[in-house]
Amino acid sequence: MEKKLICVICPQSCDLVLSADGAGDVAVSGNRCPRGSVYAENEYRAPKRMITTTVRIEGARIALLPVTCTGPVPKERLRDCLDLLYKLTVKSPIKMGDVIAQDILGTGIDVIAARSL
Ligand code: SF4
Repeated sequence: MEKKLICVICPQSCDLVLSADGAGDVAVSGNRCPRGSVYAENEYRAPKRMITTTVRIEGARIALLPVTCTGPVPKERLRDCLDLLYKLTVKSPIKMGDVIAQDILGTGIDVIAARSL
């Protein structure tokens, strides 16, 4: 099996090719540094994504609070995490870094405010 990827770790955007054999061993080419092979292998074995979105906020001068997360969540849980966050409404005041959703969906990752409002 061969899979083409673009490394998103830095602006070089290397074109990666990951080859996997039936035994689960992988080889990566096209990377200009070791971080590319780690990225490709993680994408193959357990892809993860950062959550960056907004949640509704009451009592602030704008209606949406930008949020981010303390680490990436499994890609297959991202949609469920976003659906949960879209249903949330928080109340002002919120400080940057405040936890908006602790251990979201049991992923061990907290969703936190990306700014104060
Ligand atoms: S492989 Fe290394 S140099 Fe290339 S995009 Fe990824 S991090 Fe950057």
